[in-house]
Amino acid sequence: MNLAQRVSCFLLAAAALAPVSIRAQAQRGPTMLPETTTKISDHVWMIEGNPNIAIVVGSRATLVVDTGLGPKNGATIARVAAKLAPANTKLFLTTTHFHPEHAAGAPGFPPGTILLRDVIQQQEMEKHGQEMIDMFAGRSAENKELLSGVALQSPDILFDREARLDLGGVTARLLWFGEAHTKGDELTFVEPDRTLISGDVVQNKTMPNIFGDGGTPATWLAVLDKVVALNAAHVMPDHSAPGDGSLVTAERELISDMRTQALALKKQGVAAADAGKQISANLKTKHPDWPNTNAAGFVNSVYAEP
Ligand SMILES: [Zn+2]
Repeated sequence: MNLAQRVSCFLLAAAALAPVSIRAQAQRGPTMLPETTTKISDHVWMIEGNPNIAIVVGSRATLVVDTGLGPKNGATIARVAAKLAPANTKLFLTTTHFHPEHAAGAPGFPPGTILLRDVIQQQEMEKHGQEMIDMFAGRSAENKELLSGVALQSPDILFDREARLDLGGVTARLLWFGEAHTKGDELTFVEPDRTLISGDVVQNKTMPNIFGDGGTPATWLAVLDKVVALNAAHVMPDHSAPGDGSLVTAERELISDMRTQALALKKQGVAAADAGKQISANLKTKHPDWPNTNAAGFVNSVYAEP
């Protein structure tokens, strides 16, 4: 198999399963975000919804991580952020990845908002952003209305691996550690709180999912090695409940275990579909309290690793 064939094969495998995982994730929290917040750490608040939104408040500036689906949600978040922040502070906005519920609400933020994201995420957005908006708009009348006329916004600031924002008494480190759920996954680490805003890269009792031509299980593990080194005390994922730093090692263990099992079964000549069933059953036994332990999509991603 040449490289092009291998890539298209991988795309097919991932694309066939992706909608299932997105639906599973979408079950948590409302798409129309509420104006209520939960405090995560000294400087970090969360709006719980689909997805969770982080607001990091300093004395001079505020950072919002993720936009909600469409400008109406973006405007809600901006209102909440303005209430939490001291008057006349700067507003920064960043996105964990290019998917519409994380990025397509940017036009709802006030003029003067400074949008930042990593270069790889921006490239991915330019390549696949519109097709994702069309796909999300096709899922429900509500989505269609929320996304109607949305133009993807280019950032004011692009960064390669890290951007540091001094918000006044608190620093947000915007980090690109490599490919995982998507190619451009961005993590935000808040100091001195030691709070990690983890996007899809670290979740809580939630199956990992590699979307489209995102990363591979191996690159996701390499990203997690760097995340472990941050030594986070609090973790706020985008599609599951917040928790402490142990979520990072739990995610690493989950992905590493599934990958080791899948590679062993592949070596024995077991078909990917059968390996997926076996590994899902093992997970169900190990984690009976998880809402979903379907490993089929992730096992396909392991089988498709170059
Ligand atoms: Zn996503």
